[in-house]
Amino acid sequence: MNRENDSFQNMLASLDRAASLLGLQENDYVTLKHPESELKVAVPVKMDDGRIEVFSGYRILHSSLRGPGKGGLRYHPEVNLSEVKALAAWMTIKCAVVDIPFGGAKGAVKVDPRQLSQGELERLTRRYTAMIAPLIGPEKDIPAPDVGTNATVMGWFLDTYSLVKGQLSPGIVTGKPVELGGSLGRQEATGRGIMLITRETLKRQGRPLAGTRVAIQGMGAVGGTSAKLLAQAGCRIVAVSDVSCGLYKEDGLDIPAVLAYLGQEPGRLLSGYEEAGAGRIDNEQLLALDVDILIPAALENQLTAKTAPHVQARIVIEAANGPTTSAGDEILEERGVTVVPDILVNAGGVVVSYFEWVQNIQAMAWDLAKVNAGLEKTMVSAFDAVWEDARANNLPLRMSAYKIALGRLVAVQKLRGVFP
Ligand code: NAD
Repeated sequence: MNRENDSFQNMLASLDRAASLLGLQENDYVTLKHPESELKVAVPVKMDDGRIEVFSGYRILHSSLRGPGKGGLRYHPEVNLSEVKALAAWMTIKCAVVDIPFGGAKGAVKVDPRQLSQGELERLTRRYTAMIAPLIGPEKDIPAPDVGTNATVMGWFLDTYSLVKGQLSPGIVTGKPVELGGSLGRQEATGRGIMLITRETLKRQGRPLAGTRVAIQGMGAVGGTSAKLLAQAGCRIVAVSDVSCGLYKEDGLDIPAVLAYLGQEPGRLLSGYEEAGAGRIDNEQLLALDVDILIPAALENQLTAKTAPHVQARIVIEAANGPTTSAGDEILEERGVTVVPDILVNAGGVVVSYFEWVQNIQAMAWDLAKVNAGLEKTMVSAFDAVWEDARANNLPLRMSAYKIALGRLVAVQKLRGVFP
């Protein structure tokens, strides 16, 4: 991994910059530079052909200062420790930006889930859950879906944890099926938050969503839902991509048709989709398109020293975690591109995860209108605070978001003190 792509180092660079803006001393926030705990497990799985394959798994609790750790579970073949540490730390910052009482955590297994049968995936999930069970809990650390995992995986997770603990524990995961205590609106929450933040950003520039030209990298849970909701709100989605290829259509793609095609069976990719008037592009071309808004919604380290100089969009809405490296960020800042940061943009998922956890504790279920109203209120108020700070202090939005989060974390750290 080159240094530019070291996500944890990129996170530390932003943290240091925010700390100096707040006039903090190293002692005030040094604990946030080190995850509280890092667990690495070797997960044996009986494969369908009788072989036993061993996969590397991780669970990292970055901070429990403001509440139990919260963070997704990623299944990806390229995942590494620095990435999981960064993802866990970003969760700490994100929960503080939207002011919900959670800390930050993240889990991962180094595996390509598309290469496993359903049975293998279930056995992997159950064994991994059992191995990290001593460290997690509804009041300690609560996983959720991320890249390569979904509600089905969360259901297996809940069942295994409940069996290990000897009691049904719905609060152990969020993003689970509604029948198992999942929240209405959770599946769409990250994408809905992205639509709301895009709307608010345009509103500050006196422009509506309708007619805005958008390119989206990644058509999974986050990118797909964002595309759907933005198209419903009148945006013209001129380009989308996934790991297989990108599609471009000047008049706007037929997003319901794209999503219907991808949703027909698990593992479907855009390379098999045809639409009249749509041409193929690659991911680098997508990032450089002449559009109003670019939404990276796939993985980290996409807008870099190499790709950032070619970005033509005037607004970048960071739907993925860590899509912009520190070097890419500097270039976009110099070029006057408005970058709305991941720790604000994609917080909708964790906000509704918090609502799900609250519903589980109370053994109650909210209706969809209540969930969506709570999400909108939380996202818009966090956006307003970040936007106002950025304008008042002439800062990039990312720095204002970090400043607000770090201020809240350090205040709690001071009150709690350091034991003993
Ligand atoms: P997902 O697995 O559902 O989808 C990922 C998408 O990215 C897929 O379409 C995949 O084909 C595509 N992709 C992978 N590599 C690519 C590449 N090199 N170029 C272009 N596309 C590529 O994952 P997701 O849940 O949608 O997560 C996407 C991002 O959003 C991640 O950064 C994740 O951490 C973040 N996120 C997810 C949630 C959530 O609720 N799922 C919440 C907050 C943030």
